[in-house]
Amino acid sequence: MSENIEKVKCLIIGSGPAGYTAAIYAARAELKPVMYQGMQPGGQLTITTEVENFPGYPDGAQGPAMMEDMKKQAERFGTDIRWGEIVEVDASKRPFRVKADDGKELEAETLIIATGASARWLGMPSEQEYNGFGVSACATCDGYFYKGKVVAVVGGGDTAAEEASYLSNLVEKVYLIHRRDELRASKAMQNRVLKNPKIEMVWDSVPKEIVGKQEGFSKAVTGVIVENVKTGEQKTIEIDGFFVAIGHKPNSDMFKGILDMDETGYLATAPDSTKTNVEGIFAAGDIQDKIYRQAVTAAGTGCMAALEAERFLGEQE
Ligand code: NDP
Repeated sequence: MSENIEKVKCLIIGSGPAGYTAAIYAARAELKPVMYQGMQPGGQLTITTEVENFPGYPDGAQGPAMMEDMKKQAERFGTDIRWGEIVEVDASKRPFRVKADDGKELEAETLIIATGASARWLGMPSEQEYNGFGVSACATCDGYFYKGKVVAVVGGGDTAAEEASYLSNLVEKVYLIHRRDELRASKAMQNRVLKNPKIEMVWDSVPKEIVGKQEGFSKAVTGVIVENVKTGEQKTIEIDGFFVAIGHKPNSDMFKGILDMDETGYLATAPDSTKTNVEGIFAAGDIQDKIYRQAVTAAGTGCMAALEAERFLGEQE
């Protein structure tokens, strides 16, 4: 790496609720944080529509607008927010050397990793077409809009089982579509799902296409075509909402071999802390949380990371 290196006290990687909250706290603590926004500025909330469960917004807010507000708040206290991605991290010694996708190099005394996770999608064109208009990857976020309606959940793991159970408290009926004849979810979750009279299993089946209709300037899902993988038979199930729950992928590839992570790539942090196994590197939000994955919990750990970074820097002086 060349010697023309910018020096920063606190570098935040990622711009979801965790990153922005870390930025607000770090900036107010005068750490002069620099943030690289990453490939999807604003993170996962920019692909949802209405957010109704983030406290402080009594009438709800549009996901993208909410992220714009968080950005403004971080900027107001002086966060240096930049387009682009961090593509290389050398954590072998402090300060940490990092490289951005435009070739720029920086030295950071602390790093806050808030690169999030991305929902896995099935890959059907109609899934993207109706994303935010009846297709969702988060029942806790969007389930409320389907009160009294009929929805389908795809997947057979704990997330799918949990989302189907959660939705069953709100909706009229849940179809749980799984590609095998046995769920992957824990036994306890399986029991909950299989005993739930509102949940109907659609075994050995994969969605082929989502069908919908134009509604004025908007659009809505009306059904899903599923194929039985054993018989090849196709049928259309009438639904109002389609929830994909086939897992998430934490955006942690860059930290392989650098930071401790579990077998699925979620960064390991110390209990009740955002500390990773490398002193001075903290992880916040969905990159280290595979259980809750909510904007408000991400914001909470973003706050923790900034406070821990500040404390760490104080101890070094
Ligand atoms: P998993 O990887 O456990 O499950 C994904 C599910 O989606 C599987 O049933 C898989 O099918 C199915 N699937 C994957 N790809 C496709 C595809 N292309 N088409 C159709 N189906 C597909 O992910 P989860 O998000 O459910 O869970 C991730 C981890 O988080 C797990 O360790 C889980 O236990 C944990 N978790 C724990 C919770 C808790 O303790 N409360 C809550 C939520 C998650 P197949 O089974 O055939 O592979």
